[in-house]
Amino acid sequence: MAENPLPQPQILPERTWTGTAVSVGVAHAVVHVLKEHFDEPDEDSIRPEDVEREMQRLHAALEVTQREIEHLQHAMGAESGGPESEIFETHLLILQDSSILKQVEKTVREQQVCVDSAFYRFMSRHMEKLRGLQDAYLRERYLDIKDVTQRVMRHLRGELLQTPMFDEPVIIVARDLTPSDTVALDRSKVLGFALETGSALSHAAIIAKSLAIPAVVKIHGICEHLHSGDSVLLDGEGGILIENPTAETLARYRSREEQAEKREDVFWDERHVNATTCCGHEVCVGANAEFVEEVKIVQDSGAEEVGLFRTEILHLENPNATEDEMTAAYTKVVSSLAPKRVVFRTLDLGGDKVDELLAAEPEPNPFLGWRGIRLTLGRRDLFRKQLRALLRAAAHGRVGIMFPMVSGVQEVLDAKALLAECQSELEAENHPVPDRVEVGAMIEIPSAALSADHIAAEVDFFSLGTNDLIQYTIAVDRLNDRVCALYQPTHPGVLRLVEMSVQAARRAGIRIGICGEMASNIELTPLMIGLGLNELSVAAAQVARVKHAVRKLRLADCQTLARESLTLISAEEILTRSRNVARTSYPELFA
Ligand code: PEP
Ligand code: MG
Repeated sequence: MAENPLPQPQILPERTWTGTAVSVGVAHAVVHVLKEHFDEPDEDSIRPEDVEREMQRLHAALEVTQREIEHLQHAMGAESGGPESEIFETHLLILQDSSILKQVEKTVREQQVCVDSAFYRFMSRHMEKLRGLQDAYLRERYLDIKDVTQRVMRHLRGELLQTPMFDEPVIIVARDLTPSDTVALDRSKVLGFALETGSALSHAAIIAKSLAIPAVVKIHGICEHLHSGDSVLLDGEGGILIENPTAETLARYRSREEQAEKREDVFWDERHVNATTCCGHEVCVGANAEFVEEVKIVQDSGAEEVGLFRTEILHLENPNATEDEMTAAYTKVVSSLAPKRVVFRTLDLGGDKVDELLAAEPEPNPFLGWRGIRLTLGRRDLFRKQLRALLRAAAHGRVGIMFPMVSGVQEVLDAKALLAECQSELEAENHPVPDRVEVGAMIEIPSAALSADHIAAEVDFFSLGTNDLIQYTIAVDRLNDRVCALYQPTHPGVLRLVEMSVQAARRAGIRIGICGEMASNIELTPLMIGLGLNELSVAAAQVARVKHAVRKLRLADCQTLARESLTLISAEEILTRSRNVARTSYPELFA
C-alpha cells in the first residue's frame, strides 16, 4: 500500500465513502482537495462598516497567493530564466497590480458588495476581453489571469489554506480532473485520485492506470466534506474511500495486500516472456502511455511495445514547445524504449482534452466537434511541427505515427500528404530521417469502421479506439454517469464494426490491434483474440496479467466464441460467454 507517513492518529470517527473503482491499488495518505472550478460568488451585500474587513480579507488572500506562487516557483527551480519563470513572474505581477486593489475597493465601497464578488467581477471582465482576442500572446495572458483569479478566490473562501502546496505525497480529491489539471500536478507526489464525477473512460481514470495508482470516481459529496490535510485510505479495487481509517482498518488492508502480492507473483515473474497462446498463436501485448517519465514503468511492465502514446499531455505541458523541444521529448521516449516500437498518436485535442489556447469558443458538443485529426488538419502549423518532430525522433528507433478520430479516407490522405512534405523538407535540411515510417489510423468512429476497406489501402495498421468507438456507435457519452449502463463494449453493433474492421485489415494485409480500455479487461481477452485482434495495447499495470491470460487460451476456442458472439443479440450474453471462457482458462486471475 502506497503510504505517506502521517501525523499521529487522532481519535476521529472513521467514515466510508462509496464510489466506482476505476484503477486498482490502495493508498493511505492525506488528501489535497482541488477546487479548481469555482462558481461565480454570490453578490452578498455588506454593511458600510464592513468595508475595511472585506478589504483586509482581500489583502490576506493576495498575500497567501503570492507566497504560494513563490513557493511553486522555488519548488520548480525556476527562480531565474526559462519559460516557467516567466509564467510565475507574470502571475506575481498580476497580483501586485495596484489598480486591481483600487478598483475592487471602489466597487466594495460604492456598491456595498462582498469582496469575493467585486474581485471576481473585475477579473472576469479582464478575462473576457482577452479571451476573444486573435493574438496568441494576449490570449495566453487570459490563462494567467484565470489561474491567479482561481488561486485568490480559493484563499478568499478559506480553501486550501492548510496545505496550499503539497510537498508530501497526497491523494488528490477533486470534482473532476481534466488533462490540464493533471499537467499542473506534481505527479511524483500523487498517490491516488478520489473524484466526485467521472467514469472508467474519463481521462483521470486512464491516467491513474498509466501511473499505476488507485482511482475511485463518483464519490458524491467529498469535495465539500473533506479538507486538505485529512487522512484517508483509498481502495481502488473496492471503490471506496475511508476517512480517518482506524489502526484495525489499516492492518486489514496491509494483510490483504500481502496476499494479493503473492497471487500476483504467478504472472509477474513471467512478464517478459512472449504472449503466445497454448496452441502457438502469437499476440503482441503493448502498453499505453502518455508521460515521458512512464518509460521506466513501461520497460518494467513486460510490454513488447507502446501501442498508443497519447501526445496531448506533452502538448498541454508546453503548448508553445518548439520543434526541437518536441523532438527531444519524443526522442527520449523512442531511444529509451528502442528496439521496441512506439506508436505515437498525433494530437487528439478537443473533446475532453481541450487546449484553451486553441479553442477560442466553447463548443456545444465537443465530442462531435473540432477534435483530433480535424483540428490538426485545420491547424497545419501545429500539425507540421508535430509531424516533423516525430519524423526526427524516428531516426532513433522504431516509430509508428497514428492519426486519431479518422472519419474517412480523405483525412488520412491529407495527413499523409503533409507527412510526405515534412519528410522531404527534413531530408532537404539534412536531418536524419528513416526512409519510411509506419502510418496507422485509429478506428474509433463508426464511419471509419464502415469504410475501413478504403482506409486500409492507405495505412500500415489499424488500432481500434474502442473508448470512442463504443461512445459513437451507441450514442452514449463515455463520461456521463446517467447513461453509463448503456456503455456496453460487447454490444452487438460494436462487435460488428470490429469484425468489419478486422476483415478489411485482413484483406489489405495490414495489422490490426486495439488500444481502448477494453483491451485491459481480461474477461474480454478471449473475445478480442477470437475476433482477430493480435495486438492488445493496455495500461502498463495490466500488461503482465493480460500476457498471462493470453498464454492460457486456445485460439480455436476463442474463434468459436467470437463466431457465436457475432450471432447473439444480447450484450450481456456475449459478455457472459467471454467471461466463462476467461474464468475457466485462467481462474487464478480471478481468485
Ligand atoms: C479510444 O478512444 O479508445 C482511445 C484509445 O483514445 P482516447 O481514450 O484517448 O480517446
Ligand atoms: Mg479516442
